[in-house]
Amino acid sequence: MIVKPKIRGFICTTAHPKGCYENVKRQVEYVKAHKKTDGAKKVLVVGASMGYGLASRISAAFSCGAATIGVIFDKPASNGRTGSAGWYNTAAFEELAAKDGIYAKTVNGDAYSDEIKEKVISMIKNDLGKVDMVVYSLAAPRRTDRDGTVYSSVLKTTGSPYTNKTIDLKTKQISEITIQPADDKEIFDTVKVMGGEDWKDWIDALIKADAIEKDAVTVAYSYIGPELTHPMYYDGSIGKAKEHLLKTSHEISETTSIKAYVSVNKALVTQSSAAIPIVPLYISILYKVMKEKGLHEGCIEQMYRLFNEKLFVQDRTTDENGQLRLDDWEMRPEVQSEVSGIWENISNDNISSCADIDGYWNDFYELFGFGFDNVDYDEDVEIDVKIPSVSE
Ligand code: NAD
Repeated sequence: MIVKPKIRGFICTTAHPKGCYENVKRQVEYVKAHKKTDGAKKVLVVGASMGYGLASRISAAFSCGAATIGVIFDKPASNGRTGSAGWYNTAAFEELAAKDGIYAKTVNGDAYSDEIKEKVISMIKNDLGKVDMVVYSLAAPRRTDRDGTVYSSVLKTTGSPYTNKTIDLKTKQISEITIQPADDKEIFDTVKVMGGEDWKDWIDALIKADAIEKDAVTVAYSYIGPELTHPMYYDGSIGKAKEHLLKTSHEISETTSIKAYVSVNKALVTQSSAAIPIVPLYISILYKVMKEKGLHEGCIEQMYRLFNEKLFVQDRTTDENGQLRLDDWEMRPEVQSEVSGIWENISNDNISSCADIDGYWNDFYELFGFGFDNVDYDEDVEIDVKIPSVSE
């Protein structure tokens, strides 16, 4: 099939198998070109097929040489439709890991469910004995709980409405948007989906099954960002979930022998961040400023730095809340003062010179395997790709 991008709203409904392979291969090459990390050896990655979770899995495997089990929620190709990007990424990851003799297996299913937790735990017990690291990197719009209740997360403010600039990335037009506050139920539901409850359920299940080392480490990801995004993010419904995630990290560290961290990462183009109003305009300006200063990083640079410089070091440096700060470069005063200066003055007349919209789109297309110069997108490509360890 000849596969072209089909954009619907915030997502691309097609994915290119060869492009996804290229995307993963480049991330693997990046890690292999850098210093090895003396870190974890048996790693479970929940949410392993895209964005920060995929980059974490690549860093664990190719920098630490770790065996990894990834939990993904992806679709293979069927009825002439391509598989999801996460499916192709995972197939590529397993193939590249096998080439280097690194163990990699994947479980495809809903990470929130007990069934998938049990399946993963039995795989750990059979193949690895115990894991010494758990990366929790889910970004999901909804969660089905044990009793069948479905909770949906919302991206809204809390308290009062908030008006600011936003961008329609398709037309490159800036307009004003007013975000309405979430009600109490919406906040509760967002915390259910994106807070720490399920992270803790995973850790508890692993401890109960004796499938995690006593001195293991676990990490989940958060975002803080500058004040201009706070009403939308840090103080918004998603921020409440991240507050809960942080509380959960303290709870895990205090009540078990496992060290739990929240790592505050940089704002980046991923499937999830594209859906947040206001944030994509901030990201496009941030990209421009950080690229000009030689400070720009993508998911793989961030996650390699997490493993190599923040997590597996003698003394872990954290902020006053015990969080690892991978947003340290993004939050540098010289970066933020330039971003906020641009934010004040950006308009439809100067957008191309003030924001890296092309960079945003490049990253967006790359998420789905498009835009790589060495992939021929006019060529017929086999869309039916197997993930070696997953039976469909
Ligand atoms: P992403 O959309 O790129 O990846 C999310 C992953 O979760 C995908 O692999 C997806 O398949 C998987 N997933 C979703 N629902 C699942 C389910 N029910 N079962 C199993 N897997 C499931 O998202 P991302 O941006 O990498 O986000 C990961 C984490 O990083 C989130 O906690 C997010 O808030 C955080 N974060 C993101 C940014 C950013 O700018 N993108 C910044 C800081 C922190």
